[in-house]
Amino acid sequence: DNPIARKPDWIRVRAPNHPVYHETRALMREQKLVTVCEEAACPNIGECWSQRHATMMIMGEICTRACAFCNVATGLPNPLDDGEPDRVAHAVATLGLRHVVVTSVDRDDLPDGGARHFARVITAIRAASPGTTIEILTPDFLRKPGALDVVVAARPDVFNHNLETVPRLYPSIRPGARYYQSLRLLDDVKRLDPSIFTKSGLMVGLGEERPEILQVMDDLRVADVDFITMGQYLQPTAKHAAVRHFVTPDEFADYAAMARAKGFLQVSASPLTRSSYHADSDFAELRAA
Ligand code: SF4
Ligand code: SF4
Repeated sequence: DNPIARKPDWIRVRAPNHPVYHETRALMREQKLVTVCEEAACPNIGECWSQRHATMMIMGEICTRACAFCNVATGLPNPLDDGEPDRVAHAVATLGLRHVVVTSVDRDDLPDGGARHFARVITAIRAASPGTTIEILTPDFLRKPGALDVVVAARPDVFNHNLETVPRLYPSIRPGARYYQSLRLLDDVKRLDPSIFTKSGLMVGLGEERPEILQVMDDLRVADVDFITMGQYLQPTAKHAAVRHFVTPDEFADYAAMARAKGFLQVSASPLTRSSYHADSDFAELRAA
């Protein structure tokens, strides 16, 4: 086991107690929806849910991968729930979201990796809330030929796929994935439909070096990726990868400046940044600009 390191002063999380937080929670329970906010034990849940910003996690609570940083359970998932797309759409409409982020577990067990289910969710949200912009955060669809085309054809506004870490750390941190496959996925989205914004994210504090991060930024720009997020990795339990270092707010500011200089349209880099953190307000700002 890896002992959990004490968090530095700049990582402060307020306990959730806002009335809207409880309303959001009640709606998720009532609609039997899973959120990555809870599954990943996200430190921002108090802030996000108080603004009705919840990130729905579709296709179940059990993942076929076992990433060393992730709190989601690994195993053989349950069959897909055909009623889920409508329930997600209903929740988005009830919350009155102008922007929604939908993510999923990885479904290596399904022949299309869950691509059609993703497309159905996008279509259902569009029908119920035509004014809502839709951001999806997808698995890598490794060895699922044709899957990506199905998801892109459903026309999400933002296609997010996280590289998570630098290539050197893939074998230990993201063992089921391939760095270049993930990069190619983002490149392919842009090639298939250049009107879709692409986005990716990295966790820092896993032992990566600054030049490696800058190289990942360059790789993402070569793949024409528009948005980048960077946040501090926090260890969920003693069974997960240890935090190797805490990146200071000044270092995050430096990474953000580098990312802007490299041409990303939208940059979010701070200790508590997560790939869905402030996704709604950031996207609204971009559209207004
Ligand atoms: Fe949920 Fe994302 Fe907010 Fe975390 S940052 S609470 S995962 S919406
Ligand atoms: Fe967690 Fe996603 Fe990895 Fe599954 S694929 S273990 S949900 S990070």
